[in-house]
Amino acid sequence: MSDTFQQLADSVLAGNPATPDDALAVLRADDSELIPLVAAISRLRRAHFSNRVKVNYLVNLKSGLCPENCNYCSQALGSTAPVLKYSWLSEEEALEQAAAGIGGGAARVCLVASGRGPSNRDIDRVADVVAALKEQHPGVEICACLGLLSDGQAERLKEAGVDAYNHNINTAASHHDKIVQTHTYADRVDTVEKAKSAGLSPCSGLIAGLGETDEQLVEALFALKELNSDSIPVNFLMPFDGTPMAGTWELTPARCVKILAMARLVCPDTEIRIAGGREMHLRSLQPLALHVANSVFLGDYLTSEGQDAAADLEMIRDNGFVVEGSADDHQTERPQPAAPAIRRRGAGTDVLPNA
Ligand code: SF4
Repeated sequence: MSDTFQQLADSVLAGNPATPDDALAVLRADDSELIPLVAAISRLRRAHFSNRVKVNYLVNLKSGLCPENCNYCSQALGSTAPVLKYSWLSEEEALEQAAAGIGGGAARVCLVASGRGPSNRDIDRVADVVAALKEQHPGVEICACLGLLSDGQAERLKEAGVDAYNHNINTAASHHDKIVQTHTYADRVDTVEKAKSAGLSPCSGLIAGLGETDEQLVEALFALKELNSDSIPVNFLMPFDGTPMAGTWELTPARCVKILAMARLVCPDTEIRIAGGREMHLRSLQPLALHVANSVFLGDYLTSEGQDAAADLEMIRDNGFVVEGSADDHQTERPQPAAPAIRRRGAGTDVLPNA
């Protein structure tokens, strides 16, 4: 089988796209083949991204209180997860949070707001933050993630200086209705298309561990390939107590590495980001995953705490990678992550952020 993975990598490197059967073979690799699998697929990562890791930083502009019913989400309608709930951060606070991430080495700041989608006033509010951020940090990329977009809003964000727009498809079209009923898969795709039409770089990814089959994970990856997503965040379900997915533990660290390897095989030259659930699900295999993925979030997630930002940077450096666009030379201890800890610092609080 090791030879098969090398042959697969050879074939993709030669310009032949992977097939759904190839993707399934990676997903279903025996755990004993994990290292040969990573060795083969890492050649695709190295060919397109060398030893660089892109570091992204999340700022949750508006947390909780969402009217949508995505059953994996701690901010959804009906969720009783005790996450932070607040309305829009002030511009000053948003800039302060973003600066912390940029100072930690982030090349991209992701400005996120809970909700079905932004009003035009919300777009203006975000545009003001973007203008100020671009003035203070001209080199930083800005991604907005504000939900479903109405006509003209993507263009307005583009004019304001936003570089990318994130809207995840989350799961396969064939599984979508099982995880949310207040909007459709087609609604999600429509927003990604609106972002693309406006000239924003499309960022769209998925969440693994939602009860989907192997075939549906492959379906989702090929849908993202079809959408021409420039970056693909791969989330691993964090089953918050108080949400319908509480107690859903379908993933193992090896399974997560295989999912990332499959994503790299299907989309060899696309930014593959290890997103939410990285610490919880990959655990000690986080460094191994960097050999197939090329992007991470620094520090905390939207409603849960990540490992210390300094530990992220240390892991990158320890494993022979470099942070894209910056000389990273941070030293710190690395605490042991446990169950999802509710974020009590950074955006929306008076406590210093984790960056
Ligand atoms: S994923 Fe987004 S739209 Fe769905 S409930 Fe959470 S914040 Fe709302």
